[in-house]
Amino acid sequence: MKKLIERIQQIKKKRPGYGEMLDFFQKVREEQDKAKASLKIEPIKLKKEWKDLLSQEGFSLLQKQDFPLDIEASITLFQILCQIGKDANPHMAEQAREIEEALNDRRFDLRELIKKGIEEQKFEQIADEFGLDKRIFLFLVEESARPSVEVGREQLRAEVDPETWLKGHCPICGSFPSLSLLREETGKRYLLCSFCGYQWRIDRLICPFCSNKEQESLRYLYAEGEEAYRIDLCEKCHQYIKTIDLRKLEESDPCLEDLATLHLDILVSKKGYKRPVSNPFE
Ligand SMILES: [Zn+2]
Ligand SMILES: [Zn+2]
Repeated sequence: MKKLIERIQQIKKKRPGYGEMLDFFQKVREEQDKAKASLKIEPIKLKKEWKDLLSQEGFSLLQKQDFPLDIEASITLFQILCQIGKDANPHMAEQAREIEEALNDRRFDLRELIKKGIEEQKFEQIADEFGLDKRIFLFLVEESARPSVEVGREQLRAEVDPETWLKGHCPICGSFPSLSLLREETGKRYLLCSFCGYQWRIDRLICPFCSNKEQESLRYLYAEGEEAYRIDLCEKCHQYIKTIDLRKLEESDPCLEDLATLHLDILVSKKGYKRPVSNPFE
């Protein structure tokens, strides 16, 4: 946490416009950190068939809704995150208030929603019904479940080899990556799972979303003076992933670096490229 806060201060000095958003991010991480200390999570029992499917068919070990969660802790965290959201930017604040209102009037059952797992359709349904911003709603629920999900991910870490999986989706939960990371001297490329945070290796030249490997349709761009960050574009599916070159940064949280380079997302989205896994501030 200490290192994270230092890095946030550093970025805020350089890019004051991101202050409000980074304060929000810091508070979310602090609360998740606190929640993690007292979680009660059931051990995950993997069936042999699942493991076989992983190695033979490239299926993930679990699906999002299979992660065991500490429901009570997630509900408490959700309520805290809504509180924090009220001090974030005006849009987030408005959304947090509307969610709270809907909860207070018992218009939807948060326990049920979290218990049933992170089923996106369920979210969309509720978000539509109450006119909520799907991205923010999903963010708040997923971040509330994150401490539990991370415990589950660590339980499964030994079951997969991050160096040999080489696919565009997460071997643990099947989700798409939110970011790509370059590490080590040779610049090996890794993907960061948008849901469980697992990292696995992938080829340098491949689009994780459509598996396109043709060099002439894969491009990247970066902003002058910001060589630690770049956008990898695919001309085939017109989607992109942000790449963070960790060799050029001091130790940091990739999600923080992602938020602090929102200007790059704005730049490429204006050119018509989509980001399959967005963050709540785009
Ligand atoms: Zn995952
Ligand atoms: Zn593609």
